[in-house]
Amino acid sequence: MHKSLVCTVCPMSCNVSLELDENGQIISVSGNRCPRGKTYAIKEHTAPERTLTTTVRAVGGVHPLLPVRTDKPIPKGLLLKAMEETAELTINAPVKMGDVIIPDFLGTGANLVASRDL
Ligand code: SF4
Repeated sequence: MHKSLVCTVCPMSCNVSLELDENGQIISVSGNRCPRGKTYAIKEHTAPERTLTTTVRAVGGVHPLLPVRTDKPIPKGLLLKAMEETAELTINAPVKMGDVIIPDFLGTGANLVASRDL
């Protein structure tokens, strides 16, 4: 069984192939031009993560929305729940870029932080 993905670690965008056994375990990795691509592919197959970037409602500022992001990637499987959580959120200005809006967001160890001043 094969799985293909595009490495996003650098602009080379290598097409990386994973050869998997019947249980989905990785047998080999090919197509990567450097070791970072192998690490990326293994992580993407076993425990994919993404940095969440979105907005939350804001009151008292010059804009009605505040851009926010997680300060490190969170499990990809939590992105929908994370979006639902942020959709329910309203913050009060003023806020400084980097301020922690929610610490340990969804128990991931990542903080939800402001992406700009408001
Ligand atoms: S495998 Fe290496 S060279 Fe290719 S995209 Fe990934 S990091 Fe860049």
